[in-house]
Amino acid sequence: MINFTQHNPTKLIFGENQITSLSNEVAPNSKVLLVYGGGSIKRNGVYDDVMEQLSKIDATVFELSGVEPNPRLSTVQKGVDICQKEEIDFILAVGGGSVIDCTKAIAVGAKYKGSTWDLITGKVAIEEALPFGTVLTLAATGSEMNPVSVITNWDTKDKLGWSSPFVYPTFSILDPTYTYSVPRDQTIYGIVDSMSHALEHYFHRTENTPMIDGFIESLLRTAVATGPKLLEDLHSYEHRATMMYVSTTAFNGSLAYGTDGGDWATHRIEHAVSAVYDIPHGGGLAILFPNWLEHVLEEDPSRVKQLAMNVFGISSEEKTVEEIAREGVNALRIFWKSLGAPTTLKDYDIDDSMLDVMVEKTFIKPGVGTYKTMDRESVLDILKRSL
Ligand code: NAP
Ligand code: FE
Repeated sequence: MINFTQHNPTKLIFGENQITSLSNEVAPNSKVLLVYGGGSIKRNGVYDDVMEQLSKIDATVFELSGVEPNPRLSTVQKGVDICQKEEIDFILAVGGGSVIDCTKAIAVGAKYKGSTWDLITGKVAIEEALPFGTVLTLAATGSEMNPVSVITNWDTKDKLGWSSPFVYPTFSILDPTYTYSVPRDQTIYGIVDSMSHALEHYFHRTENTPMIDGFIESLLRTAVATGPKLLEDLHSYEHRATMMYVSTTAFNGSLAYGTDGGDWATHRIEHAVSAVYDIPHGGGLAILFPNWLEHVLEEDPSRVKQLAMNVFGISSEEKTVEEIAREGVNALRIFWKSLGAPTTLKDYDIDDSMLDVMVEKTFIKPGVGTYKTMDRESVLDILKRSL
């Protein structure tokens, strides 16, 4: 294990009807900017629940709606303008990862006079942010309890992940019943995204971390056991609740304590793909991750073998380490395919015409991969395997 500080300041409020806590978490008479997406919260009643709570504390509510999946800088700018013009005290994100990520960028942009993109790219250091909370409606990203955000600049076609200790939500309300209306495809993407976060943490190079390794394996086994049951019954409280807590835990820091943090190359490559083609994040990961694993195991199969045995129950009898590892990757492919996830870039009509562009976009920030350091040929190899 390596040294670490365990500190996550987000207050997580989990369970049915926990929306009633909202009026205790936001200061009375606040000027609130309510941020949401394309309207799912109006159709499923979450908007009304939130407004009821905000009216209890006499909040003055301004709204930014229409945050798109893969949120765009232009939408962030609209939120920044409202915050600055109306002197907003608190932002409330109601939605999935896209709405929360957009809110994080608004929160830092609101406190800065220059371009928000300069904060996101790291050209200018982030020194403060408006406080914000979240009401989560889709289990996937973990954004509700982490300091990470992903924003797309559609002018330059760059999708950039960034983080800052100033953008932990102050609180997040997680009511599994709010995810009942998440459609089947988004539910599948959520399962894939949370499993991918767990997998990326798993591929660290730190020795003597049996507890964290076992924790990650347990989380993955839980997702493998729960995913298919949830897809059979999208209104199951039990399975929605399990997947919701799995997805939060998969990316709230819990899986990184005492390790080097893992290898996030697959996320970097996926961001490059969705910057060019605007595909769903979880769909891109389902295609890329097995190919990253295969690429990695050809050099060193040991960790993939451990994954194969401890998560997918692959037996080791009379097999080489590489054979066990390959069976593990195959089991992952079959599992995601059985859920209904895409398996090749062709599923999104993506051919080989933009491979070079995607390779370059993967390196928009230097340093891709830690378990296996990627160069341009490695990324190209993974993309070609994914075609
Ligand atoms: P999302 O993009 O927030 O939402 C996807 C779709 O689901 C939207 O069309 C949304 O509709 C709909 N939806 C959300 N909740 C719903 C509900 N309860 N009922 C019905 N429909 C619902 O999906 P996401 O997977 O949570 O977020 C993806 C983004 O997060 C990507 O940009 C990805 O790169 C990023 N990401 C961030 C992190 C992080 O740590 N910050 C980690 C991984 C990925 P409406 O717009 O109408 O609400
Ligand atoms: Fe992700």
